[in-house]
Amino acid sequence: MRTYTGGCHCGRVRFEVTSDLTRVIECNCSICTRKGYLHLIVPPDRFRLLTGGEDLTTYQFGSRTARHHFCRHCGVASFYVPRSHPDHIDVNVRCLHGVDCTTLRVERFDGRDWETSIRRLEIH
Ligand SMILES: [Zn+2]
Repeated sequence: MRTYTGGCHCGRVRFEVTSDLTRVIECNCSICTRKGYLHLIVPPDRFRLLTGGEDLTTYQFGSRTARHHFCRHCGVASFYVPRSHPDHIDVNVRCLHGVDCTTLRVERFDGRDWETSIRRLEIH
C-alpha cells in the first residue's frame, strides 16, 4: 500500500488515496467508455479530498445511484461514487500523479451486462 495524490486538470480538485493498485478495472459501459475511466474502488477511509469540494458538480442518469462528479472548471472526472459500491469511492487511476497506467494489470468489467457482472465483482 502507498498513498498517491491525484486530482483534476486545473488543480482545484486534489485528493489522496491509499492503495496497492492491484485491482484496476476498465468498464465498457456507455459512460466509462466515453470518459476513458480506469477504476480504483476504495473504502472511504482510504480516500481524502484535500481541496475542491466546492468545485465539483455531479452528473446522474439511469438508476441515479452513481454520483459522477467532475470539476466544473476543467471538466475532468477524477473520482466519483460508483453504482456498484455506493459506500465506496471510485478513483480514476489516470488522474493519479506518478502512475504509469501502461504498466498496470487491468481487469475488464462488462458494464453493458451490469446485472450479471456485478455478481462477480468483489471489492474488499
Ligand atoms: Zn479542474
